[in-house]
Amino acid sequence: IIPVLTIDGPSGSGKGSISKRIAEKLGWRYLDSGALYRALGVAAIRSKVDLKNEDALADLVRDIELEFKRTELGNWSVLLNGQEVQNELQTEQVGDVASKIAVFKRVRDGLLAKQQSFLKPPGLVADGRDMGSVVFPTATHKVYLTANAAERGKRRYKQLIEKGISANLTDVIQDIERRDERDKNRRASPLVVPTDAVYIDSSLCTIEEVVQQVLNLLKN
Ligand code: C5P
Repeated sequence: IIPVLTIDGPSGSGKGSISKRIAEKLGWRYLDSGALYRALGVAAIRSKVDLKNEDALADLVRDIELEFKRTELGNWSVLLNGQEVQNELQTEQVGDVASKIAVFKRVRDGLLAKQQSFLKPPGLVADGRDMGSVVFPTATHKVYLTANAAERGKRRYKQLIEKGISANLTDVIQDIERRDERDKNRRASPLVVPTDAVYIDSSLCTIEEVVQQVLNLLKN
């Protein structure tokens, strides 16, 4: 069997940075499932589809093409219908739209096969909200990573500023709390701690400390 490490948790928990580092250290593939929901968000904004219309959104998932491409710097970049959209993915607007359309079961089902197609040797690190519960329920290793909302807000704010995107800390924290509520309370694949996951609170840890903790789990 191909080893899979799932890392689920709310936004700003450090999932992205940690998953990427672990995938690099192990030489495994990396799935940023949030980027797929965000790219779909970009597609929804462009096509002006009604964000409450599940059928229209399901048609959109069926009709678009989403690919990850490796950039010259070794990062991953998302292509929507062959066009690079990476720069748009991190904005708060796109994150908000992604979280709104992610509530629909038909949207989630439409992205399922795409996500599962990432599973190839020598292994996969999958980062998201339902990686351990729905997309890779038989994963060999499952982690649930979180941190308190204020800390997550600060990290997200810093990331935005570093990317040259203007932001307001209070708004970012509020936004994170709103998105947490939506992710936890939706009927289709809510954000839950998988019963067999190791729970890690990263509020007081550095990224490197969490990376070490997760790598230690993989040894067992
Ligand atoms: O992780 P990221 O912030 O990029 O995800 C954007 C949004 O996509 C999240 O707020 C969440 O609502 C949704 N999402 C999801 N399931 C995943 C990954 C992301 O519902 N596996």
